[in-house]
Amino acid sequence: MLPEYFEFSLPTRVLYGIGIIDQLRDAVASWGQRRALLVTDAVLVQAGLAERAKTGFRQTAIEIACVYDQVPPNSTIQTVEDCAALGRAHGCDLIIGLGGGSVLDTAKVANVLMVKGGRVQEHMGAYLLGQTRLLPLFLIPTTAGTGSEVTKVAVIADPEHDVKLPFAETQFLPDLAILDPELTRSMPPKLTAATGMDALTHAIEAYVGKEWSPAADGLALQAIRLIRDNLLLACAQPDHLPARGAMLVASCLAGVAFSHSMVGMVHGISHALGGVYHIPHGLANALVLPEVMAYNLESRWDRYADIAEALGVVFPRPGAALGNLLRYGGLGFAVPWVRSLAAVDRWFRRQAAKAGIAYIRDLNRQLAHLTEMPLNLRNAGVNDGLAKLEQVADTAMTDGAMLYNPREPEREAVIRIVRALHETTVAPLPVAATDLRPAGATAATREPRNVFPDSETLYQVLGGFFERLKDDPQIGGPLKNSRLCVQFAFENPTATMTIDARGEEVRIYRGAEFSGEPEVTMGMSADFAHAFWHGRVNLVSALTRRQVIAKGNVPKTLKLLPILKPAYALYPQYLAEIGMKEAA
Ligand code: NAD
Repeated sequence: MLPEYFEFSLPTRVLYGIGIIDQLRDAVASWGQRRALLVTDAVLVQAGLAERAKTGFRQTAIEIACVYDQVPPNSTIQTVEDCAALGRAHGCDLIIGLGGGSVLDTAKVANVLMVKGGRVQEHMGAYLLGQTRLLPLFLIPTTAGTGSEVTKVAVIADPEHDVKLPFAETQFLPDLAILDPELTRSMPPKLTAATGMDALTHAIEAYVGKEWSPAADGLALQAIRLIRDNLLLACAQPDHLPARGAMLVASCLAGVAFSHSMVGMVHGISHALGGVYHIPHGLANALVLPEVMAYNLESRWDRYADIAEALGVVFPRPGAALGNLLRYGGLGFAVPWVRSLAAVDRWFRRQAAKAGIAYIRDLNRQLAHLTEMPLNLRNAGVNDGLAKLEQVADTAMTDGAMLYNPREPEREAVIRIVRALHETTVAPLPVAATDLRPAGATAATREPRNVFPDSETLYQVLGGFFERLKDDPQIGGPLKNSRLCVQFAFENPTATMTIDARGEEVRIYRGAEFSGEPEVTMGMSADFAHAFWHGRVNLVSALTRRQVIAKGNVPKTLKLLPILKPAYALYPQYLAEIGMKEAA
């Protein structure tokens, strides 16, 4: 089944990679020379992340002209106005947001002020910008939760009125989203837990919401699987970069999903808890999520069963299993006898849907065990005996997210849920080793930098290595048989080397010694070549990342495949022999 209507588009270019913040030159080249306003916060300056980003941009034509680093958690109207004023005073023509959702949302709304002027409140609403073009925007998340780097919404607090103001504009989708897991490593476990639950809430609300769409469904379910496998691990082992990376990607996918399908009653209530009681957004979502799932269950039980499966809560389907066995096992005549088991399957699916809610409750308790995440509103900072309950309910009932909830939100239900979250005395749940599943992705190793200080060293080292390849009994033959002429054009330091196997014997040329026409030219940095001959890089992904620029009949280089494995083994051995032990 499909919805009657849906839209899907993602104009944002998303880059992911461990340490990618240091490799932005090509990615941002098309923006040319710019004067950027860097929006961030004091914690991130203190943690050295602002400096890390500045260093990354120093290798590009983009100059960080000024830094606004005063964004508080749950950014405010005043913050946005101060930030925009700074950017305007410095004549900035590009905005970079580096931080959690509060910083990224500030960058989005400050962009509107810098272009359109006026007060923040005047721009509150949805799609008011029409065709107005905003300044180019790059967003770099340092939490893995909001997905703000790929959403067309922003939320800014109005502390005078205890509410959070919503903004939705297509122009909020940034030009570039840079996902570098290293920038999330400094998150304390409690923040990792709360922001991770924010991402999970986005995925679940997008999947069950009224505005669901097939493309967003796929992303939401994949985000749920990634969170299932990596959230506890990222909390238990903060330096586990693959788990950090998987959470960052999950948050991004969930962001794309909910930017299309929107969020529901969980967000309606947690925005109100944020506005009235200043409960951090992710934590509020974590606590409210299972309660709203239980409230919505009957209206979307089939979808909640899919979610349970994505969470790994898989119940048997005896009818389907037996039916498949008979149909494809050559006993098709018996299939009608098991049709009645379809009702049993449906019963199991309903049980699975309910069990998915129990899974989320346990997950919160496990996060509390690992990170001391609060499990009730008293511990989350509500210390007035819930005196503002009515205000929370009123605020929640007028929140835009309520419109998309699959079941009509009732005020009494909001009150019941908030009261229950205030009273509950649920305890943390220890985490078993089996709950910390491996993340699957491989960790990136840090490559040495500037291995070849000058062209002469490069010619000596790589030239000598190529000569060795030629003479090696295992490699020399296949190299000669390739009948290829490949030229390597290195940068940092600049050098050209050509291997020509078209003649009687293989010849190695340095620089201008070669004057012919190579069949294939491979452009790359000298450091990349060093990592390549170590066998540490994936050439296909390097081509996608433009780390290697290949010109000519590239598929012909497949003839060199047989030499690669022995060459990778030879390279470190050769480096050690010539006294470059540390590079080996
Ligand atoms: P946050 O941005 O409010 O940050 C919380 C705290 O974490 C801050 O003190 C910050 O300095 C710190 N922090 C951030 N990254 C860190 C790091 N790597 N290491 C150490 N400390 C770090 O938290 P958030 O949950 O990312 O964002 C919440 C805000 O985002 C709320 O205002 C919420 O309404 C909004 N939001 C926006 C969207 C959207 O699509 N635009 C979606 C969800 C939430």
